[in-house]
Amino acid sequence: MQMTKPVILTGLRANNDLQIGNYFGALLPIILMAKQRAGEYQINLFMPDLHSFTTPVDHAQLQNNIMNNLRIFTAAGLPLDNPDVHMYRQSYVPAHSELTWILDCFAGFGELSRMTEFKDKSARLGVEHIGVGQFNYPVLMASDILLYQAAYVPVGDDQRQHIEFTRMLAERMNNRFGELFTLPASMQEQAEFFGSSEGRALRIMDLQDPTKKMSKSDESGKGCIFLGDEPAVAHKKVMSATTDSVAQVNHDTINQPGVSNLLRILALLRGVELEVVVHEFNGVTSYGDFKRTVADEVAAFLTDFQAKLAAVDDTAIKSKLAESEALMNQQANQTLLNVQKAVGLR
Ligand code: ATP
Ligand code: MG
Repeated sequence: MQMTKPVILTGLRANNDLQIGNYFGALLPIILMAKQRAGEYQINLFMPDLHSFTTPVDHAQLQNNIMNNLRIFTAAGLPLDNPDVHMYRQSYVPAHSELTWILDCFAGFGELSRMTEFKDKSARLGVEHIGVGQFNYPVLMASDILLYQAAYVPVGDDQRQHIEFTRMLAERMNNRFGELFTLPASMQEQAEFFGSSEGRALRIMDLQDPTKKMSKSDESGKGCIFLGDEPAVAHKKVMSATTDSVAQVNHDTINQPGVSNLLRILALLRGVELEVVVHEFNGVTSYGDFKRTVADEVAAFLTDFQAKLAAVDDTAIKSKLAESEALMNQQANQTLLNVQKAVGLR
């Protein structure tokens, strides 16, 4: 059972409610592809449940979070009735874990130690407080991608290094054992494929500290707009976003990271190019009205999205999972068997 169409794949960890960076950076690109180009592509949107607790979570809440995120995929417009679209939970396809162990033995301790996310987290928490899962997850991520021979993996800019690592590992295996894996496209090629106007992947920044990316596991949550935020709460978060004292609405990510981030968010919410909103606020010298425009747009988006979320039918989700997980096991097991044979296990 081999994939007959090029595969587009992405996953979003269910460790917390999703935030707008996840939505615009990973979820929306794959859903747009699913709507516009299923037929040409196989679309895999999966729940990386094994990745959920590489950082600490409330395990009593994990099942709820997983279900909530699956509802979010559906509310965001994933066409569940399309036979080229697959929605599945990683842990229901055991090949992910098995391939990870094999690839671990060909991945370098040094190269994983150099991953920026690992370095940042271990510097912040101390090596004694960081799990082996956090260290090792790029290999699991490589397995998630390579098992399905995925060509395109829409992810935010923060995952650039892990995509490069996946490409490198796949190439290393192919050089040694023959053509086992399709190399996923580089981040540059992906940005072009998904039609980013700047030719690079998206990075929405934290509203409070616009020099760091918005993250759903952020401790305070003040700089992060969650898809489940009360619209009025999110409105306040935008109104109190960090700006600067330049007193001009410019897109300048070096000197005005906060203002630039709000411009970017506004353009995404309106579905227009960045230049359009930059032009709209050209010459504006006070931030109050500008922020209110963004805050209103955020609140309207959340109101609309949450209405869609409330209308999602769980039975449709459950039957899609059963169907996709059966098929994904066939595809993944085929790749796994090729690898097992190559390394001498079969
Ligand atoms: P966590 O803090 O738990 O790591 P996260 O917000 O970084 O949460 P992930 O589950 O790690 O979310 O990533 C899901 C997807 O969302 C990935 O493809 C990632 O690149 C993308 N993504 C995460 N944050 C942003 C952001 N601020 N801007 C654009 N894309 C993002
Ligand atoms: Mg992350």
